[in-house]
Amino acid sequence: MKHNSKHFVCLISFLLIFSCSNEEEDTEAPLIQTPQPEAEATAATQYTLAVSAAEGGTISTEGGTYDEGTEVTITASANEGYRFAGWEGYESYETTIIINLDSDFILTPIFAEDTKPPNNFAVDQYWGKIVDFDSEFFFAENISEFNRSGILNSNKIITDYFGNYGPTEWWITSPSTSTDDILKLREKFCQRRLERNENWTNPNANNPNYDACMSHGWFEYPDNYLANGSYVFGYNIIALGQYGDDNSYRNFDFPIQLHEYFHIVQANSILTMPNEGGMWGWDMFSFFKEGSARFYQKYVWRKLSNDVFIDLNPDYNFQDISMREEFRIIMESLKEGCSTFTDYYRIDYSDRNICDPYGLGAWGVAFLMNKKGDGDYDSYWKSFYPVLKVKMITNDNDINLSFSQAMKEFYGLTIEEFNQEFKLFLQLPIEQQLEIIPDI
Ligand SMILES: [Zn+2]
Repeated sequence: MKHNSKHFVCLISFLLIFSCSNEEEDTEAPLIQTPQPEAEATAATQYTLAVSAAEGGTISTEGGTYDEGTEVTITASANEGYRFAGWEGYESYETTIIINLDSDFILTPIFAEDTKPPNNFAVDQYWGKIVDFDSEFFFAENISEFNRSGILNSNKIITDYFGNYGPTEWWITSPSTSTDDILKLREKFCQRRLERNENWTNPNANNPNYDACMSHGWFEYPDNYLANGSYVFGYNIIALGQYGDDNSYRNFDFPIQLHEYFHIVQANSILTMPNEGGMWGWDMFSFFKEGSARFYQKYVWRKLSNDVFIDLNPDYNFQDISMREEFRIIMESLKEGCSTFTDYYRIDYSDRNICDPYGLGAWGVAFLMNKKGDGDYDSYWKSFYPVLKVKMITNDNDINLSFSQAMKEFYGLTIEEFNQEFKLFLQLPIEQQLEIIPDI
């Protein structure tokens, strides 16, 4: 009957305004404007929203057909034993999203089985292994939802690349985190250590001390040193204190997040028995340690950016220039200060104001990988570290000896030989030097 009545309405309209078209292009108003019957009043474009249920949770709506521009709120709720892990068909990590119907949407929530990180002291079993549970993130209150989801997104890209080591905790503040909020986060951090029977200052001593933990300046900006990537009671712990208050770019701090995660990759790759290898040290000096972290923070997002959308702040990290151009700038800033050094391996944090081990180390790591000549700029962490780990076992965690032997075996240079060759390299014209940097 509906059809009949619609035709009837249409017929009436035809008689009145000599037109019965639903076509949008029919925009010219008739000369004689006649009030239209109600059934004909809205001819808005309509779109379909289809929300499918998924195993592990529920959705607040299955969608339907809506007028263009309608905003529909959808909430996904994970069942016991599952957690929400994003949307298929929509880029968000929020459980509640508002869809503006400007096209058809097909959405499915993703629920992952909740594989909680182990919650006790004895987690050495995971050391050096890729794990199937997620990192845990602890945010200061002022970190926006946008930035929280951006950090999770960056973490996914980074762990997909290097492998997911765990258990890992991230503690995130920003320069504008208030003193009160820093204290709250610190209390949470130290409470957690206490609950897990973990002693921050000595992982071998099974006597956590809440007051001692609180007396450290954890998360104070900018002095938030947490020895990122160090083994601490079986956990990989990272503090990101410089996370921007910028809410415009999803992966704003991706290079720094990658840099800090790379320290976890290093520690888990090199240290055989973390307690024996030293609580803080996975390498004695910062030239190769920070140099490689710096190299990959510049390399990976450029390498991935054709396939993965990494939304950096364009004013940040030389996004608009090539890796070679950025390394040219780095080299120009180093030339003077570094010229007096002869033992590059031992350039450390304390030399930073004279010769920056991060920048020169990044060049050193590029030099080594280029020396191999296979064009593989991931060899340092992917292939060299496993060789180094074997040496660490053989040499009872003597990092100097192990490093030199592994370098000789894999890249063909002892530390001494590296020092000699790298010194000559540093005297080459910049254009020639730049040839060893990936052309991306
Ligand atoms: Zn670092």
